Amino acid sequence: MVSNDEIKLRLECKKEGLDPDKTLGKIQVPYEWTGASYLFNFGSMPVEEVTSRIDKLLTKRGYSLEDGTLSHGVCIKLTYSGVCGDIPKLYRFEFEIYSSRGRTYFTITKSFKGLIMAMDKIWNGKNYLDSELEKIVNKIKYLKPFKGYLVCNKCNKYYKLQFGESPYDFTDKCECGGKLKYYENIDFLLK
Ligand SMILES: [Zn+2]
Repeated sequence: MVSNDEIKLRLECKKEGLDPDKTLGKIQVPYEWTGASYLFNFGSMPVEEVTSRIDKLLTKRGYSLEDGTLSHGVCIKLTYSGVCGDIPKLYRFEFEIYSSRGRTYFTITKSFKGLIMAMDKIWNGKNYLDSELEKIVNKIKYLKPFKGYLVCNKCNKYYKLQFGESPYDFTDKCECGGKLKYYENIDFLLK
């Protein structure tokens, strides 16, 4: 099934005059199902950057940290349908962000624990976490920045990334000796 995020990106590709299939293949974070969890390879994107983006995504979806840290922890979300008599649903995932040989990886695993989740398993089926996990995966797939600007902190020269180019595929040094920093937009520079 094509997710809403993907539909939006396809439209954006067309607007930029790019082949959606080719471009989406290029900007997608490579991932695989290992049999127990999803494993994403964020390449040279720094751990702190991946951690902050994952944290934002999970917070926006209503998750909070039950245990651990923002880079290795367990997040939970409790939802109420609002229908009287319905029991709340508990979602729980274990995740980890780590670096290995200069690459940043992210893993996410379904996690069952406690009485509410045992009830959820009975009421909503053993795999009730799957559709929620699929939605999260569809977001994480496009969590790596692939448009925006690189701006030099010394001479203020900037480079506009082509749609599909990631700032992490470039050197962070400007020819003037300054450092290039990534920005989603540069309205602040053009004021
Ligand atoms: Zn410069």
